[in-house]
Amino acid sequence: MTRRTKIVATIGPASQNEEVLEKLIRAGMNVARMNFSHGTHAQHAERIAAIRRISAKMGKCVGILQDLQGPKIRVGNLPIPLQLTEGEVVCLYAADDSAPECSNQTIPVDFPELFDSVHVGDRLLLDDGRLAFQVVTAQPRTLTAKVVVGGTLSSHKGINLPGVRIRVAGFTPKDEEDLAFGMQQDVDAVAISFVRSADDVLKVRTAMKKIRKSGRMPLLIAKIEKPEVLTELDRVLEIVDGVMVARGDLGVEMPPETVPVMQKRIIQAANARAKLVITATQMLESMIHNPLPTRAEASDVANAIFDGTDAVMLSAESASGEYPIEAVTMMGRIALEAESHISEWGKQPPRTSLGENDAASMVRAAYEIARDRDVAAIAVFTMQGRTAELASKTHPRVSILAFTPDELTYRRLAFMWGVEPHLVPFANTVEDMLKQVDGAMLKSDKIKPGQQVVLLCGFPLGAMRTPNMALLHTVGSDISGVNGVDSNK
Ligand code: PEP
Repeated sequence: MTRRTKIVATIGPASQNEEVLEKLIRAGMNVARMNFSHGTHAQHAERIAAIRRISAKMGKCVGILQDLQGPKIRVGNLPIPLQLTEGEVVCLYAADDSAPECSNQTIPVDFPELFDSVHVGDRLLLDDGRLAFQVVTAQPRTLTAKVVVGGTLSSHKGINLPGVRIRVAGFTPKDEEDLAFGMQQDVDAVAISFVRSADDVLKVRTAMKKIRKSGRMPLLIAKIEKPEVLTELDRVLEIVDGVMVARGDLGVEMPPETVPVMQKRIIQAANARAKLVITATQMLESMIHNPLPTRAEASDVANAIFDGTDAVMLSAESASGEYPIEAVTMMGRIALEAESHISEWGKQPPRTSLGENDAASMVRAAYEIARDRDVAAIAVFTMQGRTAELASKTHPRVSILAFTPDELTYRRLAFMWGVEPHLVPFANTVEDMLKQVDGAMLKSDKIKPGQQVVLLCGFPLGAMRTPNMALLHTVGSDISGVNGVDSNK
């Protein structure tokens, strides 16, 4: 059985070399995530080019996800890590300034807006909540804080201010520059961090249209990690193509015990609107240093799949860990096992979420035929990818073979649950289509003699219309004469 849940793996120092990239793709990486909180444009460009070159050579489809940093507050550059002890007072200052006269340890902050937003008594959480400070004095570009939970602090660690509204644009000048670079690189999807409102995502949509006046846009994915966005999740879902359950920051901004229920709500809300959903962060965290995950991590990946996620994501495990390939392989194994029990434990996305239009009706019909006739696959011919995306959101029992002549469509299908993308020449006749389906099915040893597939396409072919034709086809059967409607045949 082919795995249906997609694996997103973050690329970093541990995974950027060509040999590792090839092994990651072989192990099952469907989407490579470029984290723009780290690295230069030149580094990202090199990684993107390598992934495209290697995946093309292997005949594998790999999507590229650009993850924009957003208004993430970070510690600046520290020449050596600081050891901070509970009870000591530290001085924080804007990284653009020189270190202030201060008898205590000093910490630069690369986001000066922090100083406009905090008040005496506020809590600062650093390094995903591993360290905690309480603000003692606050001035325009410096503050002093008492260490409440100590530890080692190194450069560029994140700073969260739970419950504090930061007076800063959600889409920063750095994000705007990075987005222009990403679109120039033809990334397949863009994730935006620290979304607080529907307005934040609208700004990115507008910026995308300014950068690319016409043509296909990358998928837009909102990272859900701030509590305030949860109250307007439905409005955000109307604008974006998908969401990420960004549990790292979500679990710092909100008490960690609320994360499991938030995850279920976010996945359910995305599925109710037929939008893509990725579950992220700490899924196999212990594999940063160990070749095997904990049992709890294996359960976590499986449970996200049972909740109805489309994709699961690796962060440090694949970016900087010691076992990036093992982490992708393990994630694939857990996903396959979970999927074999999905009818028992899984939450099925509602098919009503597809909406009321021809494509939605045809996709629902294909889903029903697939169940009724116990078919081997649903085959979809798609130019823009929309029919395959809709079919994906029904989470059918069988794979969705998506055939497209469009390379951009091909790559974005890498994100879609259950979709096996095929880049093929444009099919001029139904006969051509059936040949392509037969070729793919017979090559993949997924088919037993006499098995059927449901084929979805728009007819007449080439008219670029939404699907209006479903055909039940027996693989390998005589297909001459299927174009009876075509008098030239
Ligand atoms: C997260 O916070 O879970 C997340 C995915 O974002 P980042 O890795 O950019 O902190």
